Amino acid sequence: MRNPKHIIIVGAGPGGLAAGMLLSHRGFKVSIFDKNSEVGGRNRAIRMNGFTFDTGPTFLLMKGVLDEMFELCGRRSEDYLQFVNLNPMYRLIYDDRELSVFSDRNAMRAELQRAFGASGEGYERFLDNERQRFARLYPCITRDYSSLRSFFSLDLLRALPWLAFPKSVFHNLGQYFDQEKMRLAFSFQSKYLGMSPWECPALFTMLPYLEHDYGIYHVMGGLNQIAEAMAQVIRDMGNTIHTDATVESLIIENGEVKGITLKNGDEIRADEVVINADFAHAMTHLIAPGTLRKYSQANLEKRDYSCSTFMLYLGLDKLYDLPHHTIVFAKDYQTNIRNIFTNKTLTEDFSFYVQNASVTDSHLAPSGKSALYVLVPMPNNDSGIDWQAHCQNVREQVLDTLGARLGLHDIRQHIDCEKIITPANWESDESVYKGATFSLSHKFSQMLYWRPHNRFEELANCYLVGGGTHPGSGLPTIYESARISSNLICQKHNVPFDGNKQSTWLNKVKA
Ligand SMILES: Cc1cc2nc3c(=O)[nH]c(=O)nc-3n(C[C@H](O)[C@H](O)[C@H](O)COP(=O)(O)OP(=O)(O)OC[C@H]3O[C@@H](n4cnc5c(N)ncnc54)[C@H](O)[C@@H]3O)c2cc1C
Repeated sequence: MRNPKHIIIVGAGPGGLAAGMLLSHRGFKVSIFDKNSEVGGRNRAIRMNGFTFDTGPTFLLMKGVLDEMFELCGRRSEDYLQFVNLNPMYRLIYDDRELSVFSDRNAMRAELQRAFGASGEGYERFLDNERQRFARLYPCITRDYSSLRSFFSLDLLRALPWLAFPKSVFHNLGQYFDQEKMRLAFSFQSKYLGMSPWECPALFTMLPYLEHDYGIYHVMGGLNQIAEAMAQVIRDMGNTIHTDATVESLIIENGEVKGITLKNGDEIRADEVVINADFAHAMTHLIAPGTLRKYSQANLEKRDYSCSTFMLYLGLDKLYDLPHHTIVFAKDYQTNIRNIFTNKTLTEDFSFYVQNASVTDSHLAPSGKSALYVLVPMPNNDSGIDWQAHCQNVREQVLDTLGARLGLHDIRQHIDCEKIITPANWESDESVYKGATFSLSHKFSQMLYWRPHNRFEELANCYLVGGGTHPGSGLPTIYESARISSNLICQKHNVPFDGNKQSTWLNKVKA
């Protein structure tokens, strides 16, 4: 039965779409507004000359969370999406060796023995110990922290020792792996949060653990298909997604959000407004200066943000025999990390990631051609780097490095089409504050109760979803933010909803 309450969602990124799906299923009138002409935000497709690329996410971790979002709406993700479990998951390239990384335990042990002469004992302990950490922490991480009372819950207090505070991921891994290069294989995942493995809190050792125990997935057509599928569910349930509809500002009266004003001047009123636009961007662009205190422009400026990325999407008129995912470490990895996070400078010896998804998915490139996605972690725009001046130079360096490190010496001759996104473009075109593509950093002082709350602290009738709110960046946690905010809205309006308040996929998968 339709609920008379109207919810506006600002942004059709993964967070906005997941919230839109849940709230639609629970009977609300939902209206989503996005400034782009397509849904998905950083999870949307880039299409050129018959090639398809994902703009951002290419690794689907914790598929169970996504499945659960569909189940909570009375649907099955498999009816909308075709998943491919990748095994090997990816290849790592060091200056002196290579490692194929498998979610299959025996294959992984054999590969660690081959590449590092390791017995596999540390790997088994890593899996066993990190499984326990994950089981204890995940339910605590994915709960609402809109009040301090929820923070001091018994299960969180019991789980506190598992935070391994104040260790970093890299240090935590020392108990399993004595060789530094082995530790890199299980700690580079901190970059998924835009952080250095030496700074990223140890609890995020759950990222490599999740890959190894649950695997990673490709979605046929690209991960952008997830956004398309969510949009379809929302429309099937009778609700509306307005594209090419930029929200200019929130309508705020006496500290309460009453609706939105679009760029074309239209005012639309609603009972609740959910913000999915990048958190710090929204605070500084949709709300008049002087309105906020905790999240004023000056306070936001002082917070810590993730790194950015330089993106090169290449449509190539040749088939390249590269794995689906390849991660190449800078020869001097620590200096590269320091240049990104501390010195905030450009560097010639950089780490990078290449996706060649057309080896798995023939839909992504015309026959006999390859769609290559290259991601180079870069400092965010606190660096002051003039990207207009440096863009072409960095492009040339990336192409040279693809030749030197991956043997793609002929790549320049085979470029059919290309697109570049620099840190400056993330900020100006994709509305990402400071171009920090993974949002507010995930250091302890900006997590859980200390991350912007799902029920926004400073304005009534306002909720947050997406990477900039709790629990944080990455598709599964973004979907969890949508679950938390949707549940809070239902509780406020006494709307019953199916399923547990928290995630149950973990029990189901491991049962
Ligand atoms: C390069 C890159 C690689 C990544 N790789 C992975 C990965 O492999 N796996 C993973 O799980 N995660 C990955 N992520 C992280 C994360 O999953 C994505 O960034 C995700 O898209 C963020 O979702 P979101 O809902 O927070 O915001 P967004 O995707 O940014 O969506 C926000 C939406 O709000 C809209 N908007 C903004 N301002 C306005 C306005 N004023 N009016 C109307 N609409 C507005 C935007 O157009 C956008 O559509 C990656 C991110 C990047 C950038």
